[in-house]
Amino acid sequence: MPPEIHLIAAARPNLPKLAALLHALAEAPSFCTPVMVHTGQHHDAAMFGGHLADLGLPPPEVALGISGGGHASVTGRTMMACADLWSTRRPALVVVAGDVDGTLAAAIAARKLAIPVAHLEAGLRCREMDMPEEINRRAVDAISTLLWAPDKATAARLLADGHAPHAVCAVGNTMIDSLLRVLPAARARKLPAGLEAGTYGVLTIHRPANVDSPAALAALLQAVAEAARQLPLAWPIHPRTSQRLSEFGFAVPAGVMPLPPLGYLDFLGLLSRARMVATDSGGVQEEAWALNLPCLTLRPSTERPVTLEAGTNRLLPAAGLPAAIAAILAGDRARARPIPLWDGKAGVRMVAHLAAFLGAIRDPAPARWPFPLGGLA
Ligand code: UDP
Repeated sequence: MPPEIHLIAAARPNLPKLAALLHALAEAPSFCTPVMVHTGQHHDAAMFGGHLADLGLPPPEVALGISGGGHASVTGRTMMACADLWSTRRPALVVVAGDVDGTLAAAIAARKLAIPVAHLEAGLRCREMDMPEEINRRAVDAISTLLWAPDKATAARLLADGHAPHAVCAVGNTMIDSLLRVLPAARARKLPAGLEAGTYGVLTIHRPANVDSPAALAALLQAVAEAARQLPLAWPIHPRTSQRLSEFGFAVPAGVMPLPPLGYLDFLGLLSRARMVATDSGGVQEEAWALNLPCLTLRPSTERPVTLEAGTNRLLPAAGLPAAIAAILAGDRARARPIPLWDGKAGVRMVAHLAAFLGAIRDPAPARWPFPLGGLA
Protein backbone atom coordinates (compact mmCIF):
# COMPACT_ATOMS: atom_id res chain seq x y z
CA MET A 1 0.00 0.00 0.00
CA PRO A 2 1.53 3.40 -0.95
CA PRO A 3 2.14 5.69 2.06
CA GLU A 4 -0.73 7.77 3.38
CA ILE A 5 -0.78 11.53 3.07
CA HIS A 6 -3.38 13.36 5.17
CA LEU A 7 -5.21 16.34 3.68
CA ILE A 8 -6.68 18.68 6.29
CA ALA A 9 -10.14 20.04 5.49
CA ALA A 10 -11.34 22.54 8.08
CA ALA A 11 -13.52 25.19 6.44
CA ARG A 12 -15.36 25.94 3.20
CA PRO A 13 -12.50 27.70 1.37
CA ASN A 14 -10.19 24.71 1.94
CA LEU A 15 -12.31 22.47 -0.26
CA PRO A 16 -11.75 23.84 -3.80
CA LYS A 17 -7.98 23.95 -3.04
CA LEU A 18 -7.82 20.36 -1.80
CA ALA A 19 -10.11 19.18 -4.60
CA ALA A 20 -7.54 20.31 -7.18
CA LEU A 21 -4.89 18.12 -5.53
CA LEU A 22 -7.22 15.16 -4.99
CA HIS A 23 -8.43 15.15 -8.60
CA ALA A 24 -4.86 15.42 -9.93
CA LEU A 25 -3.74 12.57 -7.64
CA ALA A 26 -6.63 10.41 -8.87
CA GLU A 27 -5.46 10.92 -12.45
CA ALA A 28 -1.75 10.20 -11.71
CA PRO A 29 -0.08 6.80 -11.23
CA SER A 30 -0.62 5.88 -7.58
CA PHE A 31 2.38 6.74 -5.39
CA CYS A 32 0.52 7.76 -2.21
CA THR A 33 -2.81 7.16 -0.52
CA PRO A 34 -4.65 10.45 0.10
CA VAL A 35 -6.82 10.53 3.23
CA MET A 36 -9.05 13.54 3.89
CA VAL A 37 -9.19 14.54 7.55
CA HIS A 38 -12.08 16.87 8.46
CA THR A 39 -11.37 18.92 11.56
CA GLY A 40 -15.01 20.04 11.93
CA GLN A 41 -14.57 23.85 11.86
CA HIS A 42 -17.28 24.15 9.16
CA HIS A 43 -19.46 21.09 9.35
CA ASP A 44 -23.02 21.58 8.09
CA ALA A 45 -24.36 20.89 4.61
CA ALA A 46 -24.42 24.59 3.65
CA MET A 47 -20.77 25.27 4.52
CA PHE A 48 -19.19 21.83 4.02
CA GLY A 49 -21.15 18.72 2.99
CA GLY A 50 -22.81 20.22 -0.07
CA HIS A 51 -19.46 21.58 -1.27
CA LEU A 52 -17.88 18.12 -1.15
CA ALA A 53 -20.60 16.81 -3.44
CA ASP A 54 -20.35 19.82 -5.79
CA LEU A 55 -16.59 19.31 -6.07
CA GLY A 56 -16.95 15.57 -6.73
CA LEU A 57 -15.29 14.61 -3.45
CA PRO A 58 -16.26 11.69 -1.20
CA PRO A 59 -17.00 12.26 2.52
CA PRO A 60 -13.81 12.65 4.58
CA GLU A 61 -12.35 9.35 5.82
CA VAL A 62 -11.51 10.81 9.25
CA ALA A 63 -13.69 13.31 11.18
CA LEU A 64 -12.16 14.96 14.25
CA GLY A 65 -15.43 16.71 15.22
CA ILE A 66 -13.88 19.96 16.50
CA SER A 67 -16.32 22.86 16.11
CA GLY A 68 -17.36 25.99 17.98
CA GLY A 69 -15.34 28.21 20.31
CA GLY A 70 -12.86 31.01 19.71
CA HIS A 71 -9.56 30.93 17.85
CA ALA A 72 -7.50 29.55 20.76
CA SER A 73 -10.06 26.89 21.61
CA VAL A 74 -10.43 25.63 18.02
CA THR A 75 -6.67 25.70 17.45
CA GLY A 76 -5.82 23.94 20.71
CA ARG A 77 -8.48 21.24 20.46
CA THR A 78 -7.64 20.57 16.80
CA MET A 79 -3.93 20.22 17.63
CA MET A 80 -4.77 17.68 20.34
CA ALA A 81 -7.09 15.70 18.06
CA CYS A 82 -4.48 15.65 15.25
CA ALA A 83 -1.75 14.51 17.64
CA ASP A 84 -4.01 11.70 18.89
CA LEU A 85 -4.78 10.61 15.33
CA TRP A 86 -1.13 10.63 14.24
CA SER A 87 0.06 8.73 17.33
CA THR A 88 -1.61 5.63 15.87
CA ARG A 89 -1.94 6.47 12.15
CA ARG A 90 1.17 8.33 11.08
CA PRO A 91 1.12 9.75 7.53
CA ALA A 92 4.20 10.35 5.37
CA LEU A 93 3.11 13.97 4.93
CA VAL A 94 0.29 16.33 5.94
CA VAL A 95 -1.19 18.79 3.43
CA VAL A 96 -2.73 21.96 4.89
CA ALA A 97 -4.48 24.57 2.74
CA GLY A 98 -4.98 28.31 3.06
CA ASP A 99 -5.09 30.17 6.34
CA VAL A 100 -7.88 29.05 8.68
CA ASP A 101 -7.35 27.97 12.31
CA GLY A 102 -7.50 24.25 11.46
CA THR A 103 -4.68 24.83 8.93
CA LEU A 104 -2.43 26.29 11.63
CA ALA A 105 -3.37 23.68 14.22
CA ALA A 106 -2.67 20.70 11.96
CA ALA A 107 0.63 22.18 10.73
CA ILE A 108 1.94 22.72 14.26
CA ALA A 109 0.76 19.31 15.48
CA ALA A 110 2.40 17.56 12.50
CA ARG A 111 5.74 19.35 12.72
CA LYS A 112 5.96 18.72 16.50
CA LEU A 113 5.70 15.01 15.61
CA ALA A 114 8.38 15.46 12.91
CA ILE A 115 5.84 14.79 10.15
CA PRO A 116 6.56 16.87 6.99
CA VAL A 117 3.94 19.47 6.05
CA ALA A 118 3.03 20.83 2.62
CA HIS A 119 1.34 24.25 2.62
CA LEU A 120 -1.04 24.64 -0.30
CA GLU A 121 -1.41 28.37 -1.07
CA ALA A 122 1.87 29.34 0.60
CA GLY A 123 3.40 32.80 0.68
CA LEU A 124 0.32 35.05 0.58
CA ARG A 125 0.77 38.27 2.58
CA CYS A 126 -1.48 41.28 3.17
CA ARG A 127 0.66 42.74 5.98
CA GLU A 128 -2.40 43.31 8.21
CA MET A 129 -1.09 41.66 11.33
CA ASP A 130 -4.47 42.04 13.12
CA MET A 131 -6.09 39.64 10.64
CA PRO A 132 -6.32 36.10 12.07
CA GLU A 133 -5.67 34.67 8.59
CA GLU A 134 -2.43 36.67 8.18
CA ILE A 135 -1.13 35.30 11.48
CA ASN A 136 -2.05 31.75 10.47
CA ARG A 137 -0.50 31.88 7.01
CA ARG A 138 2.79 33.37 8.22
CA ALA A 139 3.09 30.82 11.02
CA VAL A 140 2.28 27.90 8.70
CA ASP A 141 4.76 29.04 6.05
CA ALA A 142 7.48 29.36 8.69
CA ILE A 143 7.27 25.66 9.63
CA SER A 144 6.23 24.03 6.33
CA THR A 145 8.43 21.51 4.55
CA LEU A 146 6.95 22.11 1.08
CA LEU A 147 5.52 25.50 0.07
CA TRP A 148 3.15 25.56 -2.90
CA ALA A 149 2.83 29.16 -4.07
CA PRO A 150 0.08 30.40 -6.43
CA ASP A 151 2.37 32.53 -8.61
CA LYS A 152 6.01 33.27 -9.36
CA ALA A 153 6.27 36.54 -7.41
CA THR A 154 4.94 34.80 -4.29
CA ALA A 155 7.42 31.94 -4.72
CA ALA A 156 10.25 34.44 -5.17
CA ARG A 157 9.29 36.14 -1.92
CA LEU A 158 9.36 32.82 -0.05
CA LEU A 159 12.86 32.18 -1.40
CA ALA A 160 13.91 35.68 -0.32
CA ASP A 161 12.55 34.83 3.16
CA GLY A 162 15.10 32.01 3.31
CA HIS A 163 13.10 28.91 2.31
CA ALA A 164 15.15 26.31 0.44
CA PRO A 165 14.75 26.32 -3.38
CA HIS A 166 13.71 22.65 -3.49
CA ALA A 167 11.00 23.31 -0.85
CA VAL A 168 9.27 26.11 -2.79
CA CYS A 169 7.27 25.49 -5.96
CA ALA A 170 5.16 27.99 -7.93
CA VAL A 171 2.36 25.55 -8.73
CA GLY A 172 -0.35 28.03 -9.75
CA ASN A 173 -3.79 28.65 -8.33
CA THR A 174 -5.81 25.64 -7.20
CA MET A 175 -9.01 27.74 -6.95
CA ILE A 176 -8.81 28.22 -10.70
CA ASP A 177 -8.36 24.46 -11.25
CA SER A 178 -11.60 23.80 -9.39
CA LEU A 179 -13.50 26.66 -10.98
CA LEU A 180 -12.57 25.59 -14.52
CA ARG A 181 -13.54 22.01 -13.73
CA VAL A 182 -17.09 22.87 -12.62
CA LEU A 183 -17.86 26.01 -14.64
CA PRO A 184 -20.12 24.37 -17.28
CA ALA A 185 -22.19 22.73 -14.52
CA ALA A 186 -22.28 25.99 -12.53
CA ARG A 187 -23.47 27.97 -15.55
CA ALA A 188 -26.26 25.46 -16.09
CA ARG A 189 -27.65 26.10 -12.57
CA LYS A 190 -30.86 28.13 -12.29
CA LEU A 191 -30.45 31.61 -10.84
CA PRO A 192 -32.44 32.37 -7.67
CA ALA A 193 -36.01 33.39 -8.56
CA GLY A 194 -36.22 37.08 -9.46
CA LEU A 195 -32.66 37.42 -10.84
CA GLU A 196 -31.77 37.69 -14.50
CA ALA A 197 -28.30 37.31 -15.99
CA GLY A 198 -26.41 40.60 -16.29
CA THR A 199 -28.83 42.65 -14.20
CA TYR A 200 -27.49 42.25 -10.65
CA GLY A 201 -24.36 42.42 -8.55
CA VAL A 202 -23.18 39.97 -5.87
CA LEU A 203 -22.12 40.81 -2.32
CA THR A 204 -20.19 38.56 0.10
CA ILE A 205 -18.92 39.82 3.46
CA HIS A 206 -17.56 37.93 6.45
CA ARG A 207 -14.19 39.35 7.63
CA PRO A 208 -14.20 40.32 11.33
CA ALA A 209 -13.01 43.87 10.48
CA ASN A 210 -16.18 44.41 8.39
CA VAL A 211 -18.82 42.63 10.44
CA ASP A 212 -17.75 42.26 14.07
CA SER A 213 -18.35 45.83 15.25
CA PRO A 214 -21.74 47.60 15.03
CA ALA A 215 -20.03 50.72 13.62
CA ALA A 216 -18.26 48.88 10.78
CA LEU A 217 -21.28 46.80 9.84
CA ALA A 218 -23.63 49.83 9.97
CA ALA A 219 -21.31 51.82 7.66
CA LEU A 220 -21.16 48.89 5.28
CA LEU A 221 -24.94 48.47 5.21
CA GLN A 222 -25.39 52.18 4.53
CA ALA A 223 -23.06 52.00 1.52
CA VAL A 224 -24.75 48.80 0.32
CA ALA A 225 -28.20 50.46 0.58
CA GLU A 226 -27.00 53.35 -1.58
CA ALA A 227 -25.30 51.02 -4.07
CA ALA A 228 -28.43 48.84 -4.37
CA ARG A 229 -30.39 51.84 -5.65
CA GLN A 230 -28.29 51.62 -8.82
CA LEU A 231 -27.89 47.84 -9.15
CA PRO A 232 -29.86 45.13 -7.32
CA LEU A 233 -27.50 43.04 -5.20
CA ALA A 234 -27.73 39.32 -4.38
CA TRP A 235 -26.20 38.62 -0.98
CA PRO A 236 -25.45 35.04 0.11
CA ILE A 237 -24.99 35.75 3.81
CA HIS A 238 -22.13 33.99 5.62
CA PRO A 239 -23.21 32.45 8.98
CA ARG A 240 -20.85 34.78 10.88
CA THR A 241 -22.46 37.83 9.23
CA SER A 242 -26.02 36.51 9.84
CA GLN A 243 -25.14 36.15 13.50
CA ARG A 244 -23.83 39.72 13.71
CA LEU A 245 -26.87 41.14 11.85
CA SER A 246 -29.21 39.60 14.40
CA GLU A 247 -26.97 40.43 17.41
CA PHE A 248 -26.86 44.10 16.39
CA GLY A 249 -30.53 44.20 15.25
CA PHE A 250 -29.63 45.30 11.69
CA ALA A 251 -31.85 44.65 8.66
CA VAL A 252 -30.89 43.81 5.09
CA PRO A 253 -31.31 47.03 3.02
CA ALA A 254 -33.99 47.45 0.35
CA GLY A 255 -32.82 46.40 -3.11
CA VAL A 256 -30.67 43.62 -1.66
CA MET A 257 -31.79 39.99 -2.03
CA PRO A 258 -30.65 38.05 1.05
CA LEU A 259 -29.72 34.43 0.29
CA PRO A 260 -28.44 31.60 2.50
CA PRO A 261 -24.79 30.56 2.00
CA LEU A 262 -24.90 28.92 -1.42
CA GLY A 263 -23.44 25.64 -2.59
CA TYR A 264 -20.25 25.92 -4.67
CA LEU A 265 -22.00 25.36 -8.02
CA ASP A 266 -24.91 27.67 -7.20
CA PHE A 267 -22.52 30.38 -6.03
CA LEU A 268 -20.31 30.17 -9.12
CA GLY A 269 -23.46 30.08 -11.27
CA LEU A 270 -24.60 33.31 -9.59
CA LEU A 271 -21.18 34.95 -9.88
CA SER A 272 -20.61 33.98 -13.51
CA ARG A 273 -23.77 35.84 -14.64
CA ALA A 274 -23.37 38.96 -12.45
CA ARG A 275 -22.34 42.51 -13.51
CA MET A 276 -19.88 42.85 -10.62
CA VAL A 277 -19.05 41.52 -7.17
CA ALA A 278 -18.31 43.38 -3.92
CA THR A 279 -16.52 41.17 -1.43
CA ASP A 280 -14.00 40.74 1.36
CA SER A 281 -13.37 37.08 0.49
CA GLY A 282 -9.96 35.94 -0.69
CA GLY A 283 -11.19 33.19 -3.01
CA VAL A 284 -13.86 35.35 -4.64
CA GLN A 285 -11.20 37.89 -5.75
CA GLU A 286 -9.51 35.03 -7.65
CA GLU A 287 -12.74 33.62 -9.07
CA ALA A 288 -13.73 37.10 -10.31
CA TRP A 289 -10.47 37.22 -12.31
CA ALA A 290 -11.25 33.85 -13.93
CA LEU A 291 -14.75 35.07 -14.82
CA ASN A 292 -13.49 38.46 -16.08
CA LEU A 293 -15.85 40.06 -13.55
CA PRO A 294 -15.21 43.49 -11.97
CA CYS A 295 -14.42 42.87 -8.29
CA LEU A 296 -14.60 45.57 -5.60
CA THR A 297 -12.73 44.33 -2.54
CA LEU A 298 -13.95 46.04 0.62
CA ARG A 299 -10.62 45.90 2.45
CA PRO A 300 -7.57 48.16 2.82
CA SER A 301 -5.23 45.48 1.44
CA THR A 302 -5.19 42.13 -0.32
CA GLU A 303 -2.91 39.12 -0.10
CA ARG A 304 -3.71 38.53 -3.79
CA PRO A 305 -2.09 41.61 -5.45
CA VAL A 306 -1.84 39.82 -8.81
CA THR A 307 -5.58 40.28 -9.16
CA LEU A 308 -5.09 44.07 -8.86
CA GLU A 309 -2.34 44.00 -11.49
CA ALA A 310 -4.53 41.84 -13.74
CA GLY A 311 -7.14 44.61 -13.83
CA THR A 312 -10.22 42.85 -12.43
CA ASN A 313 -9.84 43.77 -8.75
CA ARG A 314 -9.90 47.09 -6.88
CA LEU A 315 -9.54 47.83 -3.16
CA LEU A 316 -11.85 50.37 -1.61
CA PRO A 317 -13.49 51.35 1.67
CA ALA A 318 -17.21 50.60 2.00
CA ALA A 319 -18.05 54.29 1.51
CA GLY A 320 -16.59 54.12 -2.02
CA LEU A 321 -18.96 51.34 -3.13
CA PRO A 322 -21.81 53.42 -4.67
CA ALA A 323 -19.45 55.51 -6.85
CA ALA A 324 -17.45 52.45 -7.91
CA ILE A 325 -20.61 50.61 -8.97
CA ALA A 326 -21.80 53.67 -10.87
CA ALA A 327 -18.48 53.72 -12.75
CA ILE A 328 -18.77 50.02 -13.65
CA LEU A 329 -22.33 50.52 -14.90
CA ALA A 330 -21.05 53.42 -17.02
CA GLY A 331 -18.60 51.02 -18.68
CA ASP A 332 -15.45 51.80 -16.70
CA ARG A 333 -13.89 48.36 -16.42
CA ALA A 334 -10.74 46.60 -17.52
CA ARG A 335 -10.60 43.20 -19.21
CA ALA A 336 -8.74 40.56 -17.22
CA ARG A 337 -5.05 40.39 -18.14
CA PRO A 338 -3.50 36.90 -18.04
CA ILE A 339 -1.93 35.62 -14.81
CA PRO A 340 0.76 33.01 -15.55
CA LEU A 341 0.12 29.60 -13.93
CA TRP A 342 -3.57 30.29 -13.26
CA ASP A 343 -4.35 27.78 -15.96
CA GLY A 344 -6.12 24.86 -14.30
CA LYS A 345 -2.92 22.81 -13.93
CA ALA A 346 -1.89 23.65 -10.35
CA GLY A 347 -2.96 20.17 -9.22
CA VAL A 348 -0.66 18.47 -11.73
CA ARG A 349 2.29 20.62 -10.60
CA MET A 350 1.64 19.84 -6.93
CA VAL A 351 1.51 16.13 -7.70
CA ALA A 352 4.90 16.29 -9.47
CA HIS A 353 6.52 18.12 -6.55
CA LEU A 354 4.92 15.76 -4.04
CA ALA A 355 6.04 12.67 -5.95
CA ALA A 356 9.64 13.95 -6.01
CA PHE A 357 9.52 14.66 -2.27
CA LEU A 358 8.00 11.30 -1.26
CA GLY A 359 10.41 9.51 -3.59
CA ALA A 360 13.32 11.20 -1.86
CA ILE A 361 12.02 10.24 1.60
CA ARG A 362 11.62 6.58 0.60
CA ASP A 363 14.87 6.34 -1.32
CA PRO A 364 17.35 8.86 0.06
CA ALA A 365 20.00 7.97 -2.50
CA PRO A 366 22.16 10.96 -3.48
CA ALA A 367 20.50 11.05 -6.91
CA ARG A 368 17.09 11.68 -5.31
CA TRP A 369 18.22 14.62 -3.23
CA PRO A 370 18.08 17.64 -2.63
CA PHE A 371 14.98 16.90 -0.52
CA PRO A 372 15.95 16.72 3.15
CA LEU A 373 14.67 13.77 5.16
CA GLY A 374 11.72 14.62 7.39
CA GLY A 375 11.48 18.28 6.60
CA LEU A 376 13.46 21.47 6.53
CA ALA A 377 17.20 21.11 6.69
N1 UDP B 1 -18.63 30.41 -1.79
C1 UDP B 1 -19.69 29.55 -1.87
N2 UDP B 1 -20.93 29.97 -1.46
C2 UDP B 1 -21.15 31.22 -0.99
C3 UDP B 1 -20.05 32.11 -0.92
C4 UDP B 1 -18.80 31.68 -1.32
O1 UDP B 1 -19.54 28.41 -2.31
O2 UDP B 1 -22.31 31.53 -0.65
C5 UDP B 1 -17.30 29.93 -2.19
C6 UDP B 1 -16.58 30.75 -3.22
O3 UDP B 1 -16.90 30.34 -4.51
C7 UDP B 1 -15.11 30.47 -2.89
C8 UDP B 1 -15.13 30.19 -1.42
O4 UDP B 1 -16.48 29.96 -1.04
O5 UDP B 1 -14.69 29.30 -3.58
C9 UDP B 1 -14.57 31.35 -0.63
O6 UDP B 1 -14.76 31.13 0.71
P1 UDP B 1 -14.78 32.28 1.79
O7 UDP B 1 -15.17 33.56 1.16
O8 UDP B 1 -15.63 31.77 2.92
O9 UDP B 1 -13.29 32.29 2.33
P2 UDP B 1 -11.96 33.02 1.86
O10 UDP B 1 -11.73 32.72 0.42
O11 UDP B 1 -12.13 34.48 2.14
O12 UDP B 1 -10.92 32.41 2.74
